[in-house]
Amino acid sequence: MIDNKIIDEISRTKKGISIERYINFCLFDREGYYNNINPIGKSGDFITSPEISQLFGEILGLYIYDIWKKNINNSFNLIELGPGKGSLLLDILRITKPFSKFYKNININLVEINKSLINKQKQNFLSNKLGSFNIKWSSDILNIKKEKSIIIANEFFDCLPVRHFVKKNNQWKEKVVNYNNNEKKFFYEFAEINDSKILCKLSKYTKNEIAEISDQTEYYFKNICKFISETSSICIIIDYGYYNFPGYFTLQSILNHKYSNLLDNPGRQDISSLVNFKNLIEIAKNFELSIEYLTQKEFLEIHGIFERKENIKKNSNEEEIDCIENEYLRLIDKKNMGSEFKVLIISNKK
Ligand code: SAH
Repeated sequence: MIDNKIIDEISRTKKGISIERYINFCLFDREGYYNNINPIGKSGDFITSPEISQLFGEILGLYIYDIWKKNINNSFNLIELGPGKGSLLLDILRITKPFSKFYKNININLVEINKSLINKQKQNFLSNKLGSFNIKWSSDILNIKKEKSIIIANEFFDCLPVRHFVKKNNQWKEKVVNYNNNEKKFFYEFAEINDSKILCKLSKYTKNEIAEISDQTEYYFKNICKFISETSSICIIIDYGYYNFPGYFTLQSILNHKYSNLLDNPGRQDISSLVNFKNLIEIAKNFELSIEYLTQKEFLEIHGIFERKENIKKNSNEEEIDCIENEYLRLIDKKNMGSEFKVLIISNKK
């Protein structure tokens, strides 16, 4: 049981563990959430844009084709980070099938750490007749050959763990997870911070009383930026997130489509947090990359989602049309995914 692994670590170290460490156990342990039964999709705890509608992957696919034609027009890697069930890639490959030169030049690299999802992706690719692609799986972008690439990541960063910090009497403390042996319950406490690197980071948060920081997101994103500058590549990140910190901890856990307590059910519930896009943009600026930042609604509309939807409707019956309209609205709704999801495109200026 994951609970026992966490309790063991807490008793071994004789102090609370960071929320980041706790989430790592819950999501990525061998018995963790992402190695469990299917978390994504209509029957899972959360549903992502490509699982809502084919329109999402189609618009992204046409956009990718466009970038390739203008900037690459030759052999390239299509890299997807955290492909889930593989639905997004399948929609991209289906819509771009008519472009034979593009098709012939794709090498697919998938970055995935979840063994059961890798199997699901393999099954889904085999059962689709989209041509025979040479697909490689890696556990980290660092293992992929440095070649010209188009990298996509939908809802990848929001599942990377965060740490929580609170300023008390003008001093930063870390919110950590401890375990009460008598009550048999996890609980939060606030711990002194000795790590000078993290203290240095926190000293920049002058206006905030709390801070939510994801070292793993920063680490991963820096590797992407490095990859892009060295290979003149492009990366499209789509995620739930903000530019200005909303002033509260955005970490949330969801069980059976309902908000739950992070400390309950370790390994059995989804855990995510909003992506701090301002932070990512600042990192990309340090690498002198070109940056485009817009909402999901803006991105999809600029690149023709309305026209594509109208086209699909022409061959559909009334019931299907209703469904297409509803799914379309879900993707671009200003009160929901349309504005809460952001698109960050970074590329090499050279
Ligand atoms: N992009 C998909 C799924 C999003 S869920 C969609 O839009 O439907 C997050 C995905 O990222 C899962 O496939 C999960 O297993 C994977 N993942 C999480 N952390 C990862 C890491 N550090 N490296 C590689 N894959 C990771």
